[in-house]
Amino acid sequence: MQKEGYLFVDHRNSPGVEGLPKVFETSSFTCSHCHGQVLMNPHRARMRGLCPGCRSVLCDRCEAIRAVTLKCKTMDQIIEETLSAVQKQAGLGSPSILLP
Ligand SMILES: [Zn+2]
Ligand SMILES: [Zn+2]
Repeated sequence: MQKEGYLFVDHRNSPGVEGLPKVFETSSFTCSHCHGQVLMNPHRARMRGLCPGCRSVLCDRCEAIRAVTLKCKTMDQIIEETLSAVQKQAGLGSPSILLP
């Protein structure tokens, strides 16, 4: 499931951001691979990268990685792998992570 967001920027009462209009609105989405917030550029012509693995739109960075590795690696998978690795280590009785 991909979350879509919406962003409204109003810089009329501040110096604003260079290169950006004072008031603009755009939609945003959460990249399923890094969970980063990505803003849709309304003036962008080319399509966003779509990962066939998780059927979600990716940010430019993750799409570049996916184009090289051809692998779908979502943040959920990374968290799961990290957790199971920690559990395995704990099961071996040689904890490399020292808890206070
Ligand atoms: Zn990403
Ligand atoms: Zn994916």
